[in-house]
Amino acid sequence: MTVTSVPLLDLAAQFETIRDEATEAINEVVATHRYINGPAVGELERAVAEYSDCVAGVGVSSGTDALLCSLMALDIGPGDEVITTPYTFFATAGSIWRTGARPVFVDIEADTYNLDPTRLEAAVTDKTKAILPVHLFGQVAEMDAIMEIADRHDLAVVEDAAQSIGATYKGRRAGSMGTCGCFSFFPSKNLGGIGDGGLVVTTDEALGQRLAVVRAHGSKPKYFHKLVGGNFRLDTIQAAVVLVKLGHLEGWSEGRRKNAARYDELLAGLEPVQTPVIRQENSSIYNQYVIRAERRDELMAHLQQKKIGCVIYYPKSLHLQECFSELGHGEGDFPVSELASRQTLALPIYPELNDAQLQYVAQSVREFYGG
Ligand SMILES: *Cc1c(COP(=O)(O)O)cnc(C)c1O
Repeated sequence: MTVTSVPLLDLAAQFETIRDEATEAINEVVATHRYINGPAVGELERAVAEYSDCVAGVGVSSGTDALLCSLMALDIGPGDEVITTPYTFFATAGSIWRTGARPVFVDIEADTYNLDPTRLEAAVTDKTKAILPVHLFGQVAEMDAIMEIADRHDLAVVEDAAQSIGATYKGRRAGSMGTCGCFSFFPSKNLGGIGDGGLVVTTDEALGQRLAVVRAHGSKPKYFHKLVGGNFRLDTIQAAVVLVKLGHLEGWSEGRRKNAARYDELLAGLEPVQTPVIRQENSSIYNQYVIRAERRDELMAHLQQKKIGCVIYYPKSLHLQECFSELGHGEGDFPVSELASRQTLALPIYPELNDAQLQYVAQSVREFYGG
């Protein structure tokens, strides 16, 4: 069968492979009416914590709320600074801002698009409370260097692992190296629910307990509040579905790695295109397969014309966003990030892609450059 289109993501194809298991899990939640704090929530928390080599897991309402709860549990607020990357999904810096703290940006590495640890220490001040590295596109940031600086300055490290559940760095799981790690179950993430959801993992039992308190309006015991939290609960139906999917995650990640290796091969030697750089110490889960391409916007138009789903992650660095104008940044402040936003393009990488589809995408890219 000739391929004439490839979507960026095919949620239906994946759901078909787990339809019976997932439907059964959903039906069970509905049958027991334990929509809030049902048994699947605790089961998922334990399972994701174990999968991520952590001791505690706290289910929350989204990846964004995983970040927000983490910062709240660490008592970060007005007057504090949190160092992060400007090249990420908005929620990373948005969560810092919402606590009243100031996001302090540090530019990225040109090849991995992750926070550049060689620029990190210069950004530390006596107001710095935490570092919030993002493991972008499925690859863990340079955690040894980040942790070394954090330890020396006594800073918390919140790993934004929304795109990287199961990824490893020197054999260690995303989320297990910092103070805590944040996952998202947004449907397009590698471990996605059938709605919003998220989870925080930590190797610190006491922080896990504090996160659980923050998640439920700061109450412990119920109706007694030592601090102000919020309603950041993960609902049981999401937990039940994500629990089913967790059993398939390793296989799906392997499928993505295979697809990435195939693209690497099919696009090799094409000079205007830089394929993803994965460091030797990393195993990526390829939440995205992001190329850096000459004449990116024209390439994108060409691929769209070939009915290939492709997206720009991210078209505007966070330091240039209007809502952060009072930080006083301008064009040129973080040039590596700004250049990436003009050159990168994500291609379809989901595990159910077949070889004909991969070839169609790669062929279409080559065709654009006249190859
Ligand atoms: C998806 C994502 C988030 C937010 O997750 P939601 O579940 O959509 O709230 C945060 N950070 C990064 C890097 C993400 O990709």
